[in-house]
Amino acid sequence: MLRPILIHPDPRLKKLADPVTDLSDDLRAVASDMLETMYDAPGIGLAAPQIGLSKRLIVLDCVKAEGEAPRPLAMFNPEVIASSDETSVYEEGCLSIPEIYAEVTRPAEVEVRWMDLDGKENQEVFTGLWATCVQHEIDHLDGKLFIDYLKPLKRQMITRKMVKLKRERAREKA
Ligand code: ZN
Repeated sequence: MLRPILIHPDPRLKKLADPVTDLSDDLRAVASDMLETMYDAPGIGLAAPQIGLSKRLIVLDCVKAEGEAPRPLAMFNPEVIASSDETSVYEEGCLSIPEIYAEVTRPAEVEVRWMDLDGKENQEVFTGLWATCVQHEIDHLDGKLFIDYLKPLKRQMITRKMVKLKRERAREKA
């Protein structure tokens, strides 16, 4: 089932999300909805707060090459446990901030620990686009958006654009 994605600014995107303590079938269903919503958007990552759920759950799939098998990942309580000194710059976007892209510098490599859909603990080192994406999504769980890395003036400009976009969308719906 597709879930509506919240658009910035929204107080629910600024909240610290709660850890998942009980991995229920309901939450597994939410993860599956989130993957469906992400692929449909289309996007390469989605965090639970973006659908209005304040839980530490993210989904991602950064496989981009044509013909390469998809790799849908659902992570509960993901945590960066190590990051490289080396950084990389990617032009980031966000499904909660449509049509806005900006360069963000982050560690080039991160080691992440998370619980998977079976409740099993996983640990993996991510590089390249995967590293950027997983950090971007984990930020969402801490109420942080990629525009928070930009200069205040740029951030304010983007926020004003989003306020306008939300107003237009609300009008279209009315
Ligand atoms: Zn995002």
